[in-house]
This record gives sequence, structure tokens and C-alpha cells, in this order.
Amino acid sequence: MKLIFVGPQGSGKGTQGKILSKKFGLAHISMGDLLRNAKGERKEKINQFINQGELVPIDLTIELISERIKDKDCENGFIFDGFPRTIEQAKELDKIVKIDKAIEISITDELGVKRLANRWSCKGCGEPYNAITKKPDVEGKCNKCGGELYQREDDKPEAIKKRLEIYHKETEPILKHYDSVKVDGGQEIDDVTKDILKILK
Ligand code: AMP
Repeated sequence: MKLIFVGPQGSGKGTQGKILSKKFGLAHISMGDLLRNAKGERKEKINQFINQGELVPIDLTIELISERIKDKDCENGFIFDGFPRTIEQAKELDKIVKIDKAIEISITDELGVKRLANRWSCKGCGEPYNAITKKPDVEGKCNKCGGELYQREDDKPEAIKKRLEIYHKETEPILKHYDSVKVDGGQEIDDVTKDILKILK
């Protein structure tokens, strides 16, 4: 099964990607994490785009994704979270792999901004927390790996605004490129998971 999860910032596609990949034995591939974890020369170039809330150049994303899908954990399939984000990327991806379904996780911009303003992420493993709905057991520390929690530069209001604009203009159109189904991402996490499971049955 090869799926893509599409949704604006704060829609919970990372959270759902993690839950459902575990359930189905698929690899969860977050393009944001792949980019943030890039090493060496690549890292410096990538960070300039990420910190401004801009999309990273396509050649870098395709390079990283092509390398990643060769890993053993991708044998049963995968869930792409945050890739592709443009029609251009979707067309390049068509040359590498055939996607079975796109799941659109839909929320309003207002809710996305609210969720991201309260988001804290682990420096070590990327696990997301929320200052209101998902607090860590020990303040400032990740429950999973003990890593330090921080607020991402691109979760600050100016960068979020730009990321949402890019989402509506560049990413939403890719839904027509795929066999896509929409779920309401404004619900509780478990209810969103249930809706996605109904679609995948
Ligand atoms: P995310 O963690 O998915 O919110 O992504 C964080 C940032 O990584 C985005 O704002 C972009 O700068 C970059 N990024 C993530 N996915 C892509 C992509 N498919 N194409 C280009 N840049 C991306």
C-alpha cells in the first residue's frame, strides 16, 4: 500500500501517518523530517528554505525520497507525509512509484495556526507536543527519548502564514492528480484515525 497524506500545517498528517503506518506495517516518511535530518552541505542549503517557510528545491526532495524508498522498511509500502507538495513533485514521483490513494486531512487555517502556535517538537526524535492538548510528562523534555523540546522557527506566525499560502496555491491542486478522499481533521485524533481506516478497508 502506497499512500500520501495531504493537509495544511497543523492538520495532524504527521500524527495520523505515525499511527496508521504502525497499524499496517508501512514506513512513515515525513519529508519535513527527512529535510530537517539531512547532513553536511545539504543541511545548510535546506535550512535557509525551511526557516523562511519556503519550499525546498525539487531536486533535493526527489534525491532524498528516492534514497529513502530503497530502505528495507518500505518493502510493504509507505505513507508519505508532506510529499509531494506541488504538481511538479507529483509528476516526478509518478516516474519513480505509483501511489494508490491520497488522503486529504482537512482543517481550517484558523485551527492550523492555533495548533501550531502551541506546538513543541523534540530536537531528538521530532515527536510533536502541544502546550494545551498533549503536554510532556516532564516540562521541556520528550516522553519518548528525553530530548529537549523546542518551538520550530517555521511554526512562528509569519512563517506559518507563508506556509499556508503555499499550501493552498501549490499543494491543494495535487489532490486532483490522485484518487483522493477527504477526512475532517478538526475531530479528535482517534476519530480521524477511524475515518481513515473506513476509507482504507
Ligand atoms: P513540515 O514538517 O511537513 O511542516 O515541513 C517543514 C518544511 O520543510 C516546509 O515548510 C518546507 O520548507 C520543507 N518541506 C517539507 N516538505 C517539502 C516538500 N515536499 N517540498 C519542498 N519543501 C518541503
